[in-house]
Amino acid sequence: MARLHEHQGKALLAQAGVDTPRGVVIRCAGDAPGAVREVGGAAVLKIQAWTTGRKAMGGVVFVDTPDEAEAAAERLLSMSVGRFPVEEVLVEERVPIEHELFVSLSIDDTARAPVLLLAGSGGSGIEARAEEVARLPVDPETGVEPAELESALAGAPVQSPQREPVARAIDAAVGLARRVEARSLEINPLVTTTDGRVIAADCRMTIDDYAVFRHPELGIEIARELDHPPTELERAAYAIEQADHRGTFYFARLPVEPGDRVIGFHGAGGGGSMMSMDAVSRAGFTPANFTDTSGNPSPAKVYAAARIILAQEGLLGYFGSGSGVASQEQYHSAYGLAKAFLELGLTVPALIRLGGNSEDRACEILESACADLPATVEGYKKDHSPAFVADRFAALVEHAAGAEWSPRPRAVPGFVGSGGALSFPVRFGVNWEGRCWVDRGAVDDGLFAVIDESAPGVFRLGSAGIELALSEEEALARDSDLIAAEIECARAGRPAVFVDIPIPGLDDAPAEAPR
Ligand code: GDP
Ligand code: MN
Repeated sequence: MARLHEHQGKALLAQAGVDTPRGVVIRCAGDAPGAVREVGGAAVLKIQAWTTGRKAMGGVVFVDTPDEAEAAAERLLSMSVGRFPVEEVLVEERVPIEHELFVSLSIDDTARAPVLLLAGSGGSGIEARAEEVARLPVDPETGVEPAELESALAGAPVQSPQREPVARAIDAAVGLARRVEARSLEINPLVTTTDGRVIAADCRMTIDDYAVFRHPELGIEIARELDHPPTELERAAYAIEQADHRGTFYFARLPVEPGDRVIGFHGAGGGGSMMSMDAVSRAGFTPANFTDTSGNPSPAKVYAAARIILAQEGLLGYFGSGSGVASQEQYHSAYGLAKAFLELGLTVPALIRLGGNSEDRACEILESACADLPATVEGYKKDHSPAFVADRFAALVEHAAGAEWSPRPRAVPGFVGSGGALSFPVRFGVNWEGRCWVDRGAVDDGLFAVIDESAPGVFRLGSAGIELALSEEEALARDSDLIAAEIECARAGRPAVFVDIPIPGLDDAPAEAPR
């Protein structure tokens, strides 16, 4: 579920006809006095963090003058929530509240329908007053039954002249949720004011991930559940996932405390990844990220995942472990991982559980391709439990005596970009293209046989040496075979093939320190 910012949700509510406080978003304290003047003097300042209970943590502050506002904004902008720093403060007109109502619309998976929760006593701490909450069914087509809404509101401490506008606001909010395909929309509180208005004073809204593509107007960058606004690496990863639909790829940064023993984590399959995260955490490590590549991912996708994981600073090692009994051919993943480790010249231990189909071949590819790296790279199979591999990982990290990974640019062989090389475009996904380079002079009969075994029929040996046997259009789609050919040449000690896989947003992005 993709979350909207409070001010985004309020803007949508306002468009839908629900009154909201006048508000301005600021990112630096110096803008606070002007913002307060703009909203009319007495104001509320609220941290824009993806959390509830901001008032209890001091994230909601009332001010009466522009000067007070600057000091308050200074304080709010130096707060952190879950170790993610507060970057925005919403400055709003302070409304004279009479009553606070709790209004929450969500999709109830059990009822397989939207459900509206309503309480006459809204505001902070509603979670602890569950018995006061009315539950109203919502028809996806027609919304809430007016009579039901009326009787639910009869119990609320709202005066009768305001009941009708309250009902209208709730109705409009339900209509909005339907239009933007929200999974949830909470207004806590929806308030009545002493001057007779009905206003949405807070708004938390999430959109169904699978509907996000239908709503570009919402400006959602990543259709995924995150507890923080997306980082550069998360954006880069999401772009890859959108481009290459072979298998899934998920990457999210995780909170890290100073002093944690931080590692890169690369899982395969949801349940197996969870089990593996537990195992490596129990061995004393903190994953800097959660990553899952599964469902038969392409080597290019696994490669991109490894590159993105290794763009994180300060890792003590790389722990790859998933279900352990994958039905997909595991050598595809081995090729992708080996390519990333070789290009980056990995220096910290990498242990990868590659259990499942073709696990013997996968482990052999990974270990022999990486044999000359400064790092220890080991593959494990279905008979090795995550706990066993985590213990071995701990021993290797111990042996490396605290050496930390620092991200570096990838190495590219000398024949890439040279006029004498054979070169043609390769496609990994929608709008995701790179190039294959072949060092013509290095390919003799023996090496041609190696290449042709991995990428059958792509090349032939002509009188002037290796050349494409396919049209460029046909060769475009052979990316997985070409990556295999690259690694097989490297294993043969004669790296004559290179697939240049650009990762938009990564190659220029600075390394990310642990969060
Ligand atoms: P939350 O604590 O993260 O849910 O933040 P809210 O935006 O819901 O604010 C928390 C509480 O602050 C509300 O329940 C109100 O009691 C109070 N509050 C927020 N805005 C106003 C306002 O404009 N006027 C007044 N009088 N109280 C407000
Ligand atoms: Mn609230």
